[in-house]
Amino acid sequence: MAIKGIADLDLFNKRVFCRFDFNVPLDGNGAIKDDTRIVRALPTIRYAIEKGARVILCSHLGRPKGTVKPELSLKPVATRLSELLGQDVGFINDCVGPKVLLVVNNLHSGEMVLLENVRFHSEETKNDPKFSAQLAELADVYINDAFGTAHRAHCSTVGIAELVKTKGAGLLMKEELENLEKAFDNPRHPVVGIIGGAKVSDKISVLKNILTKMNTVLIGGGMANTFLKARGLEVGNSLVENDMIGIAKEIVEIASAQKCELCLPKDVIVASGMDNDAKTKVTSVDKIGLDEMALDIGPDTTHEFTQHIQKAATIVWNGPMGVFEQTHFKKGTMDIARAVAASNAFSVVGGGDSVRAVIQAGVSEKISYISTGGGAFMEFLEGKELPGVVALES
Ligand code: AMP
Repeated sequence: MAIKGIADLDLFNKRVFCRFDFNVPLDGNGAIKDDTRIVRALPTIRYAIEKGARVILCSHLGRPKGTVKPELSLKPVATRLSELLGQDVGFINDCVGPKVLLVVNNLHSGEMVLLENVRFHSEETKNDPKFSAQLAELADVYINDAFGTAHRAHCSTVGIAELVKTKGAGLLMKEELENLEKAFDNPRHPVVGIIGGAKVSDKISVLKNILTKMNTVLIGGGMANTFLKARGLEVGNSLVENDMIGIAKEIVEIASAQKCELCLPKDVIVASGMDNDAKTKVTSVDKIGLDEMALDIGPDTTHEFTQHIQKAATIVWNGPMGVFEQTHFKKGTMDIARAVAASNAFSVVGGGDSVRAVIQAGVSEKISYISTGGGAFMEFLEGKELPGVVALES
């Protein structure tokens, strides 16, 4: 069912309750280390203010587990928002109750207030109906712009949406859904998936789903080792999940039945350990020594993966190709980031490490779309419905 967007709704003088994902990293002293999530929320906030809404901003921060943790207060976010918007952003130290209702009801058109961390209340993550009703009391219109939490059925993402009649997606949420749908539901072919990261076990459902939609899937990172072992190769001391070998074989069979080409590394960078002092060498995957660890893809693999990337019309990437946090083992991931950026494909990158990798490679501007969702992006890749999105359907 179609979801309304904020632009489809009348906001003037309405109390517009907006759920954002202001879950920003903080240093120990309450300073924001990376304000990307705040910046990505600005278009929706500006739009609502321009339309004369009375804006209520809501978010979670961290995992306070239902208790008030001053170090997880959203107060620094209000300060940062005020700076970015050049407008005063009020802050109130709770998110429900008579005092909050009074502040919200006294907002004038074009004014806004940020509520305190919604997860200071344990009811939030239980999607408790009474707490949802308390949140809904603050809203004439409900807007969800928090794609990053769309995979969670919580009061501020689902419960409230079921109670407020006038509701829709914020500009970022719309943008996320449009770009992910473009890459998944209606992609230009050939579609190439690049999947890396540590473990097969974390990405079984993603792999099983994307194999049915993509022409080629390139597998790198630690998870490739389990696939190599499933082929009967020795992977030495590399990260491997022995209990996933059966699943890896099953995934290979699904790929073949779906006529999806599954590419594994041909060569890898090995070392005796992950630290930066370890001596490295390039090894063919059938020659990994018993005391060696495969920690990055090798040059032949990068070359082969790059050729697929160059031919792609659509690319979806999640997960690094190696231990890219270490200087010795980041080349594969950096080269793949540059190849994706240089391609003419419509490219979507999601997940914390992959996003960090494209930023580190200095190519983020050349990626067609960088998703703000970690868990939500993965669940989208798994083909699951996102409760926060479903709840916006009228
Ligand atoms: P994920 O969260 O599953 O995407 O995994 C990301 C992590 O996988 C990063 O911290 C990488 O260091 C790690 N990783 C990537 N390749 C390897 C590898 N060959 N061996 C061990 N860890 C790896």
